Amino acid sequence: MTRYNAWTVFWNGLTGQKGWDRAWRDPEPRTDYEVVIVGGGLHGLATAYYLARNHGITNVAVVEKGWLGGGNGGRNTTIVRSNYMLPGNRQFYEHSLKLWENLSHDLNYNVMFSQRSHVTLLHSPAARDAAARRYNTLRLTGSDAEMWDLETLKREIPHLNYGPDARFPIIGAAVQKRAGTARHDAVAWGYARGADSRGVDILQNCEVTGVRSQDGRVTELETTRGTIRGQKVGFAVAGNTSRLWQMAGLGNLPIETHKLQAFVSEPLKPLLDQVVVFGVGGAHFYISQSDKGGMVFGGDLDWYKSYAQRGNLPIVQDVAECATSILPCLGRVRLLRHWAGVMDMSMDGTFFLCKTPLDNLYLNAGWNYGGFKASPASGWYFADLIANDRPDPILADHDLTRFERGVNIDERGAGPDPKLHG
Ligand SMILES: Cc1cc2nc3c(=O)[nH]c(=O)nc-3n(C[C@H](O)[C@H](O)[C@H](O)COP(=O)(O)OP(=O)(O)OC[C@H]3O[C@@H](n4cnc5c(N)ncnc54)[C@H](O)[C@@H]3O)c2cc1C
Repeated sequence: MTRYNAWTVFWNGLTGQKGWDRAWRDPEPRTDYEVVIVGGGLHGLATAYYLARNHGITNVAVVEKGWLGGGNGGRNTTIVRSNYMLPGNRQFYEHSLKLWENLSHDLNYNVMFSQRSHVTLLHSPAARDAAARRYNTLRLTGSDAEMWDLETLKREIPHLNYGPDARFPIIGAAVQKRAGTARHDAVAWGYARGADSRGVDILQNCEVTGVRSQDGRVTELETTRGTIRGQKVGFAVAGNTSRLWQMAGLGNLPIETHKLQAFVSEPLKPLLDQVVVFGVGGAHFYISQSDKGGMVFGGDLDWYKSYAQRGNLPIVQDVAECATSILPCLGRVRLLRHWAGVMDMSMDGTFFLCKTPLDNLYLNAGWNYGGFKASPASGWYFADLIANDRPDPILADHDLTRFERGVNIDERGAGPDPKLHG
């Protein structure tokens, strides 16, 4: 495989761009693999990559019904942060952020990770107290976190709506400077290329349509490209987990599938250097600016369950209202594109990385709408779980029994309603 570096770019520039290898192969499916990962999104591809890189397991297939990055992996607003407070989550997301910090070098693929600060606006003393508790916990446990007063915030981001008649008056901000954004497609392609170069078969246009099991084990997967067997099978099919779970005859999961939309405006000159987020009562909004200049933003779920990858119009209005209330200068900017993805929303807003009732089946699910930032650590720990057949201690409570054990990892404190866990 051609290594990407300044010299190969220069040399190919001189020689007609003929010296590049394919980024990944397009192999025919084999019938038997050591590990089959269902789902060629970021979590599936990262898992395959770390199975090969960390555990030397290369007899692996990633089975994807569409194309790489065609799911949520390529549809999200790309916010990466690790400002989680609860045990388990905190270590997990901090590990993920550390992997992000070196990901381009590790993959030899520029994922355009840009550490530009994640700025959560605060609108009440109660919100400030809650943020101080969270951000002090982060500092005490080795991550980075800052509280900005209003003067600092005005200096850093002058064009937010600080006016006396602002709909959501701002009193300060909680900031994580190492947080930022990355190019989502590049993450999928980088992991795919890294996994493929170590021998993993990436099988696109290969939908799993049936899951056969016997004596408590998955025996084979029926796919649109033939029957495939894996000694171990991992599900990483964000938003479609309930479907696969039912194919495996396992009943219902504590997960609902909801839709989330993203929006991009026409390109603008540099306007916003940070990721800015606010949430007040029913309003929830986040925004950053892409390298091409488009304002990339989103808000809440569409508020009803569906597997359709398209959004509804009331949320367009809702998000537009949030945008103009916090950044009035966007009032006359035109919306270029918007789309939706399908979210695995769990009852407590937290993910599952665990074994399942079937001996050789492993579950990677329930990422709610925070799974982009999680993808490196998710792949890392899922590969570890599959390779060693036991969860890492930090995942002790991220399994399907946590509700019956009374463990509730509700980071947002929103209660047992999946659609409220943003
Ligand atoms: C609009 C939007 C904004 C978001 N913003 C953020 C954000 O700012 N920050 C953040 O951290 N997270 C964000 N997320 C969440 C994040 O994108 C997801 O949690 C994450 O991408 C899910 O993991 P994945 O990449 O593996 O999923 P996907 O890319 O969806 O991968 C799952 C794959 O499984 C495949 N599949 C499904 N069924 C089958 C089958 N039967 N057979 C074979 N393959 C199958 C699908 O085709 C899909 O490609 C956002 C999501 C959306 C939709």
